[in-house]
Amino acid sequence: MRDSSTVVTKKLYDDAYLTSFTATVLFADGKDIVLDQTAFFPEEGGQSPDHGQLGGFEVEDVQIVDGAIHHFLKIRPEDEEEAERIFRIGGRVGGSIDWEERYSNMQMHSGEHIFSGLVFRHFGYDNVGFHLSPREMTMDFEGPIPEAALKEIEWEANEAVRKNIRTKVIFPSKEEREGMEYRSKLDLKGPVRIVIYSGYDACACCAPHVASTAEIGLIKVVGSQNWKGGTRVSLVCGRRALELFLRDHEIVTKTAGFLSAPAESIYDLTVKSKQDLIALKAEIRDLGSQLLEAKAASIPKTEDHVVLFAASADLKAARKVINCLVKDHDGYCAVFTGSEAEGWSYVIGSAKKDCREVGKRLKDRLSARGGGKPEMIQGSVKAGEGAIRACF
Ligand SMILES: [Zn+2]
Repeated sequence: MRDSSTVVTKKLYDDAYLTSFTATVLFADGKDIVLDQTAFFPEEGGQSPDHGQLGGFEVEDVQIVDGAIHHFLKIRPEDEEEAERIFRIGGRVGGSIDWEERYSNMQMHSGEHIFSGLVFRHFGYDNVGFHLSPREMTMDFEGPIPEAALKEIEWEANEAVRKNIRTKVIFPSKEEREGMEYRSKLDLKGPVRIVIYSGYDACACCAPHVASTAEIGLIKVVGSQNWKGGTRVSLVCGRRALELFLRDHEIVTKTAGFLSAPAESIYDLTVKSKQDLIALKAEIRDLGSQLLEAKAASIPKTEDHVVLFAASADLKAARKVINCLVKDHDGYCAVFTGSEAEGWSYVIGSAKKDCREVGKRLKDRLSARGGGKPEMIQGSVKAGEGAIRACF
């Protein structure tokens, strides 16, 4: 077949647990293959496509074009002849989907239905933007959902998991649908597939689902944010929720061990540690400033230039010291605070010399930044003490 526009591929993924299949090749154009039937779920309804292999080649992408499902393969130039032989029109090929990825998507998608059904029941909001990829799953609801309500819905959704409700899939006629309550009623052509979780949700959906809610395993909200006046919720379910739990549990356990504290108190301890650290840094800066003032007072007045280094002192104290020093010393009076590794902040003053001259030397030789007036300049530089002193 030269074009695929008249093909409607049979969707074998209505049986969500079918992992491998054989099919007839109807269209082949290089790496683009259309079959009479496929178990590969294409990118549809916000969900990313299945991956796997077809005729021994890796399936990189699956897309629907006018009812035909196109499989896009990864074919190396040296394998092109072999691919042409395998994917000849009318030939039979075998395919298998990446079941780990697919099953994880099924857990995520079924969890999303339960969660969205509960949001609809409590707030009447539709899920108007759904996105499911190997990286994340987000849902966009039409209005604000308070943090506490998200927690309650999360708990109720996990109750639905524990009840082990069987997934029911029906294809009602147009007449039957008229009296039915279900989500996603928008622009649906052809047979409409409705996925039902009794007591929780009914929603028009084309994607594969797990057979019962127990298989979802765990439903966890991992984030929510304002989105165009509504709420964007990030959710993880099943294997991905377990992976997240394992990662976070390890972090918590390690942190608790390091702090020698029970896990439930590590947040309070971390907050306190940060506050203590801020207070200690302020104290060190004060002591450093006092030390700098004492150092400056001990410099003999006979010295022309004064260059002082202080690991910890604030710039306000440095300027105060410079203002005192310039009264007794005719050359440059400079204070560098910080460290060689982290870089220095400097203040340089002089009563008789133009500080911009030494500033230029620092810039030219040591790539220093900064500037100011002839009587005082300020800036920063990353260099050793010796190299800095050589500029004066
Ligand atoms: Zn769905």
